[in-house]
Amino acid sequence: MPVHHVLQQLRRRVRYLSPLLWLAVALLLEASYHVSRFRIATPEQELDPPFYTSCQEPPPPDANHTAVPRESAALVMLARNGEAGAAQHSVASLERRFNRWFRYPYVFLNDEPWSDEFMATMRASTNASVAFEVIPREQWTFPASVDRDRAQASIEAQGREGILYGGLTSYHHMCRFFSGAFYNLEALKKYKYYWRIEPDVDFSCSITYDPFVEMARHKKVYGYTIALGEEGSTCPSLFRQVADWKESHSIRTTDLWKASMSPSRLPWPLRGLARFLPHRDRHGDSWNLCHYWSNFEIADLDFFRAAPYQSLYAHLEKAGGFYFERWGDAAVHALAVNMLVEPRKLHHFADFAYRHDYYYQCPANARDGQLPTSGPLNAAEPSWAPEQDDGIGCRCSCDSSKPRNVGSYCLSKLREPTSTKRPWRTWLLGWVF
Ligand code: GDP
Ligand code: MN
Repeated sequence: MPVHHVLQQLRRRVRYLSPLLWLAVALLLEASYHVSRFRIATPEQELDPPFYTSCQEPPPPDANHTAVPRESAALVMLARNGEAGAAQHSVASLERRFNRWFRYPYVFLNDEPWSDEFMATMRASTNASVAFEVIPREQWTFPASVDRDRAQASIEAQGREGILYGGLTSYHHMCRFFSGAFYNLEALKKYKYYWRIEPDVDFSCSITYDPFVEMARHKKVYGYTIALGEEGSTCPSLFRQVADWKESHSIRTTDLWKASMSPSRLPWPLRGLARFLPHRDRHGDSWNLCHYWSNFEIADLDFFRAAPYQSLYAHLEKAGGFYFERWGDAAVHALAVNMLVEPRKLHHFADFAYRHDYYYQCPANARDGQLPTSGPLNAAEPSWAPEQDDGIGCRCSCDSSKPRNVGSYCLSKLREPTSTKRPWRTWLLGWVF
């Protein structure tokens, strides 16, 4: 076939194809524009550096603590009587690494009356004041808005489906309690900040400054150590409920909210069809499941007590997902905080070594930052793991050769709004779109 014939045929075919080509280009551009709206600005400077990056001289022992500035704060642990040993382990660790110098009071919470053994064990583990509280019955049960029989049947079904803790009624009550009633407990009324601890945790660096004072000084609302992805099967409709509440209350989208999301790469109007999938808002964009591991939290109770959070919680309670699904308090807290709090008001306690269950965070020790002649520090922790140039820890004893054993995706994603450092995949995505 002569060349000009081939060219002619090709031209005819392109003409026939061109409306489709234009449509494809338009859809691609629309999808790219959509994704670009989720881009997060890189700040000029770090908006959330560690409060300290080396050991500080701990405050002197002082029974009344008159010389030490203190915040209105408590160390709060929910536990069962049967967990006395594991609870003691946590208290011993926190005392050795922090509270021997600061003496913040403990508040222990239980849904049942405390056993004498549990109380005696805790009293013997600290010089700080301790309170043993029983959670009012109505805050540890099904709310009036939920049909008990239906809820119980759903819990049994969740158990059969193998949803993590889905079959345990008490676990559902616990998550609902930490999502809603916790902040307004009579026993916590007098406090502004809380540090949540659980049985069986370890703190493996010394904490030689007062984190509550620093939270207040830097106007921080929520502090965490570990960020990770939620188990999706526990909360298929949670994100949709939160996102719907956000829209109906015209809440401005912050960079932290964007950091919680994975935009859909589908073009309009296909994108909207995805709204029926789990973890999607009504536009079809999804939550990336990232949240803060709430068994450690240092946070401002007033944020949770204030009207926006209370209104969100009331909406979630009505939606029923604390029982008909197994919404966790960690996911609820994180979505609320990431929606309602300015990114600079969050704090990652990167200098804390923390372990619970299998997961840990372990910073390296700060080079020349260990105050080797400090009497109080030497009495508490005479030796420590090797120091490193970029270390920020104080007398940490954990192995920092692997600083954390949970994937870094969620931590770097949720830190994007406050950090000048970008992981490579963000650059790559920024480049493609
Ligand atoms: P995980 O950390 O999510 O694996 O769950 P845990 O079993 O550690 O429970 C989380 C927290 O809630 C811990 O502080 C437990 O002691 C506490 N907790 C869970 N269920 C109950 C319960 O039925 N009664 C009481 N008093 N505490 C509970
Ligand atoms: Mn736990």
